[in-house]
Amino acid sequence: MKRMPMKKRISVTARGFKILKRYCPGLAQGKALYELINSIQPFITVWFSAQIINEISTQRRIKTIVLYVSSIVLIHFICAVLKNTINRLCNEKESQMWDWFGKIFSDKQMSLDFADLESPEIQHQRQEAEENLYMFGNGLAQLVWGTSTLVNACVNILVSIAMTVTLFLSQSGNAVMDSPAWIFIILACITFGGLCNSKATIKENEIFMRWCKDTVWFNRVFIFFGKDLYMNPENAKDVRIYEQNIIASKILDKLIRYDRENQTDLFKMSILPAIAYFIIGLANVMCCLFVAVKAFFGAFGVGNIIQYTAVLSRLGEGLQDFMFLLSDNEVYCTHLQSLYDYLDIPNHMYQGSLTVEKRDDNEYYVEFRDVSFQYPNTDTYALRHVNLTFRVGEKLAVVGMNGSGKTTFIKLMCRLYDPTEGEILLNGVNIQKYNYEEYMSIFSVVFQDFRLFSFSLGQNVAANVRYDRDNVLACLEKAGFRERLDSMPNHIETCLYKDFETDGVEISSGEAQKIALARALYKDCPFMILDEPTAALDPVSEYEVYCKFNEIAGGKTAIYISHRLASCRFCDKIAVFHEGAVVQMGTHEELLTDNSGKYYELWNAQAQYYV
Ligand code: ADP
Repeated sequence: MKRMPMKKRISVTARGFKILKRYCPGLAQGKALYELINSIQPFITVWFSAQIINEISTQRRIKTIVLYVSSIVLIHFICAVLKNTINRLCNEKESQMWDWFGKIFSDKQMSLDFADLESPEIQHQRQEAEENLYMFGNGLAQLVWGTSTLVNACVNILVSIAMTVTLFLSQSGNAVMDSPAWIFIILACITFGGLCNSKATIKENEIFMRWCKDTVWFNRVFIFFGKDLYMNPENAKDVRIYEQNIIASKILDKLIRYDRENQTDLFKMSILPAIAYFIIGLANVMCCLFVAVKAFFGAFGVGNIIQYTAVLSRLGEGLQDFMFLLSDNEVYCTHLQSLYDYLDIPNHMYQGSLTVEKRDDNEYYVEFRDVSFQYPNTDTYALRHVNLTFRVGEKLAVVGMNGSGKTTFIKLMCRLYDPTEGEILLNGVNIQKYNYEEYMSIFSVVFQDFRLFSFSLGQNVAANVRYDRDNVLACLEKAGFRERLDSMPNHIETCLYKDFETDGVEISSGEAQKIALARALYKDCPFMILDEPTAALDPVSEYEVYCKFNEIAGGKTAIYISHRLASCRFCDKIAVFHEGAVVQMGTHEELLTDNSGKYYELWNAQAQYYV
């Protein structure tokens, strides 16, 4: 595995702290402050204990001893109060940390080009970074936890050094024991222990990373088969009837393979740190022996033996932690980098800045000028040389068989994608040049696979927390939802679905489609696009929508996509799509006269069912 240079690691870590500051402000600082107090505390005990023992073994002044004891009690009391308060604050923040991490991903998803949302590579990249973080805390969470270890290590090293200086300065009268060479010998022993530990950490992490990759993949399979498929009621019907056996065997296969492959790795991961700890233990014994022998030759009192042995072992811990942190930092920097690789995915779509002229006369027109389009990573054209113009007030129907490019045409108009060739113009200006939000403000769309959310009915229609009640009611009425509305327990305040409210209502797909239509009406835009708006409606409701279509669409431009030709007869213009191209254009009557045309063929194919 290629190692990351130190300079890069510093910048990666610094960026990690910046992200933490933005999404979890105060968490890393709180942890650092807590650890600062926590790691200084034992030194205070050691120092005071040494003084008390020295006092008892020499002058035995009661006042001094009482002063030492009460100081320890008071300091520990203050530390306990501070630690408790900081700990509570940090725990609260840490429990929310995972939700905030989720926000990092959702913010990026929202700003990605739409095409990237559909790109399997990019979504795989996101999933890997996300699962690494959530399952193992790799990356940002390690940074939070590492902050505590870093502060602890620094305090241990600095205070231990300060408290052991006298160990080497005090003279025992024995030339060998008083030699400054001991400083290096002791430090070498401790460092060697630390190095072994850090080597073990690197090795352990190498195995762990390989393991993570497998686990992330395993988890994806498990989440998909075990959770989404079984738990989601929408899947339950098909799973019960068709997929039970195949799913169970897929999960079992994976579990058995996963278990077998990881047995040897698990053994290696436990044996390596054990060897390192044995070496660290030997280094500690060396230090204790040195202190004992020096005290034996009379360099210091009994109290100091306690101080030096305790502090030397703390110094050892500090150095080991520090070395561990260096190797751990290398590991989490790799994870942070894969998170940044996802966060840094650039937007390729041109971001225009023109404002859309708000016209009182609503005189907008949209033109497709020789537009062709290929979906990313495909080699066939979904649209080919489409030329179309329509202005506000017109009712355009787009018809064609499944896969003929109707939805793609709408996606291009809404700038979810940019054309591969040709251009789309709004009032003569390429739509890429407009500010995207401004441009989208003139469209309301009911997509074929629209979504409603677990908010109140009113909020769903207004797509906003606050809404104009009368307007919501009027839109629901126009969309044919009035009758159902009257039977809802809390009228327009009724919550849809049961995710947040136990008395939320489940609605049928036809009812959902009506609400989606009301939402499009509430937005009140000059262009209204309806992609198969009656697909889920029963014949009566479908008929109502047709009859009221002119009332529903009012003076707006309505683009009405359907594969049911009968539903398009009331439109001013019908564009017939076939294999990505507009093959015919005209009114229903005009198109029917061409008995060699696609429209005639489709009409006759469907007419037999209507008869
Ligand atoms: P329609 O709405 O007329 O049923 P679409 O516009 O959805 O047709 O699809 C047109 C063609 O583009 C189809 O061949 C379809 O398979 C393909 N297509 C649609 N969406 C995607 C996508 N996200 N990625 C790749 N190909 C797609």
